[in-house]
Amino acid sequence: MPLNAIPPTTTLENFKIKLEAAKDQCWVDVGFWGGIIPGNAGNLVELVNAGVRGFKCFMIESGVDEFPAVEKSDIELALKTLDGKNTLVMFHAEKESEFQHQDHDFPHPTATISKINDWIPDLHPTTYAAFLKSRPDQMEVDAIQTIIEVSTVAPTVPLHIVHLASADAIPIIRQAKDDGIKLSVETCFHYLAFAAENIPDKATTFKCCPPIRSSDNNERLWDALRTGEITSVVSDHSPCTPHLKDLDIGDYFRAWGGISSVGLGLSILWTGLQHQFRTKNYRVTFADIARWTSYNTALQTGLIASKGSIDIGKDADFCIFDPHDTLVVDQTLLPFKNKMTPYHGRTLNGLVKETILRGKTIFTTTDGHLPKPTGSLLLETRAY
Ligand SMILES: [Zn+2]
Repeated sequence: MPLNAIPPTTTLENFKIKLEAAKDQCWVDVGFWGGIIPGNAGNLVELVNAGVRGFKCFMIESGVDEFPAVEKSDIELALKTLDGKNTLVMFHAEKESEFQHQDHDFPHPTATISKINDWIPDLHPTTYAAFLKSRPDQMEVDAIQTIIEVSTVAPTVPLHIVHLASADAIPIIRQAKDDGIKLSVETCFHYLAFAAENIPDKATTFKCCPPIRSSDNNERLWDALRTGEITSVVSDHSPCTPHLKDLDIGDYFRAWGGISSVGLGLSILWTGLQHQFRTKNYRVTFADIARWTSYNTALQTGLIASKGSIDIGKDADFCIFDPHDTLVVDQTLLPFKNKMTPYHGRTLNGLVKETILRGKTIFTTTDGHLPKPTGSLLLETRAY
């Protein structure tokens, strides 16, 4: 994401710094998102020309000082600027609502420990319940309503909702698509795999924004995947240092919001789908999984000419997956710089045995990674 490493990808100069840092460091092919922040509309077209695959913006405080939230007028200006420019605009769709400003008993999503104690003494900030209450479904629904409203400014620019957590937004998404708005929607492995009821207090590795919601909500997300309102499933891998996760105290409001799960997704999804099959007789094939995790993502990122399916002329990127093997997640063995994940200790069904990039094996479960990364930076013009 454009803000996950400093400097944020909001100017051409910053983008060049990132490209230089990423050179010869990527294990797989990597594309880059640019960022929309207040005041940088003048930088957007040159970022498109330099190869960003689209832009993300926040409709609420991002947690990073260099990446402030946009107002409706900033979004409108960005859409006008990008009209006809062969790109995509994505939204972190959470918006503070009027009722939050009016209701002083309502915890602010970025409140400090002392303020939370004043507002809701019965809910301590180390409880997951307090955190969940601070970011209700309505924040996502209101944000998506605003996105639908501003879409009329530049109807040809495709829009995308990143990491949808609330199934309450599905009806307005369905209506928007029926009305012809170019809108795609993703959810994440963790919104399908975990439920708020089961998240312990002080377990801040589970903190992400928007938050993991109820098991009933998760079932509705699965249904929306099946019916196509949700188009893809992604990791939204958002790492941080152990210090930033506030692991000692476990304050959900102070901890960094983000879950690390890149590399585990296929097993997470396969495990969840088997549960769907047992409980709802929900039949899917590997073709459905490939559509949610690869084909639709390639469409969204403008890479469909070379990625997203196995076809003549496309890159031979695929993995060998054994659906009958199991993966017991041990975070100490994950190839992350900061080895933290809420999947630690979980047994998942299915195991990636081998990963192939452009026809060459780059990873096997027995030998690990190749000695050197061989991934490319994907800066070519978007294809549709
Ligand atoms: Zn986000």
